[in-house]
Amino acid sequence: MGLFFFGIAVILFHAQSWGSKVESPRMARATIRPGETLHTLLKKNGFNEEDVKAIWRQNLLPKNFRILADEPYLVINDQKEKTRGIKFFEQLSDYSYYLFKNGTGEANGLRVLEKYRTEIVTVRGKVLGGILNSILSIVNNDWVAFRFLDAYLFDINPRKDLSRGAGFWMKLEKKFLGDQFVKYGEVLETNLEVKGQVETRKFIPLGTGGVFLDPTTPAFAEAKELYAPVNYIHISSVFSNHRVHPIRGKSKPHNGVDFELPVGSEVFSAHKGHIEKIGKDRAAGNHVVIRHSNGLTTAYLHLNSIQSNLKVGKHVGIGELIGQVGCTGYCTSPHLHFSVKRGNRPIDPMKVMRRYPYQFAQQIVSSVNKL
Ligand SMILES: [Zn+2]
Repeated sequence: MGLFFFGIAVILFHAQSWGSKVESPRMARATIRPGETLHTLLKKNGFNEEDVKAIWRQNLLPKNFRILADEPYLVINDQKEKTRGIKFFEQLSDYSYYLFKNGTGEANGLRVLEKYRTEIVTVRGKVLGGILNSILSIVNNDWVAFRFLDAYLFDINPRKDLSRGAGFWMKLEKKFLGDQFVKYGEVLETNLEVKGQVETRKFIPLGTGGVFLDPTTPAFAEAKELYAPVNYIHISSVFSNHRVHPIRGKSKPHNGVDFELPVGSEVFSAHKGHIEKIGKDRAAGNHVVIRHSNGLTTAYLHLNSIQSNLKVGKHVGIGELIGQVGCTGYCTSPHLHFSVKRGNRPIDPMKVMRRYPYQFAQQIVSSVNKL
């Protein structure tokens, strides 16, 4: 007992002898429960109705900010700064949002650039039932599960081509603040047993996105006519001749693919060509159509904004920035609807599109050599 107290005293003395040493804030990890909203979370953590209004008035949070069930947040008590509150983490950047009350009880918010400590871990599982649920039973995180499936988008259908008990494993980043785990980072490598063979994909970061490549196959040698219009491919809706429309409910063919990406993500021309149309309407929202010399036409819908230098009839270069992802027109969540026509006939973009935009082609070649 005596030794125990002695130990504490030494630690306190030690801390004081380093006068400038910062006492780190106390942080407890909590998990967002199904059905909880930012509003209910704030109320649960000591914010009253006036505080909530004060935070809303700051317009700190982006319009599309959503909290997701099962995602972590931190409950913080910072005695040095005399603030306490809750902190949320952006998945795609190192920014977080700290919503807090200060010493005088005033409610406030801050966007913070975090310095995470990153650990790389390997997780393993077996496919029992659906692949998505099998991954979620090992890592309960939609981001990680979708990243894993995205790795096989171009060549394997993991929802169909798997046998029961097929093994999978992946290397992924875990991000920490202090000793608290706050979010998963990138999925760096995926492995999946398909018909008795292990299919490996490695992630190559490209700008704010990236691409999963098979280290045994040179993806840059693909003979495909178009390049990807975005720098990360996550498909929320595939090309099909029969599909139930998300808003109107009726069965309607989907003449393109939907790439789900955050608002503001860059959209590039899939090839060089001439601008055929720049428009804005109730269904397509802000959109651009480009006619290419190889007989293909590409369309880019629901854009948040269109580059102001684009004009109908003008030439556009291969991989040129043409606009930003948005959710204008008939749209339930931000995405790029990308469609391709050969002559007048819509074709599946995935059949004619490479998995990365043109300006990263050189980077892909040098990265693949290092895989
Ligand atoms: Zn669509």
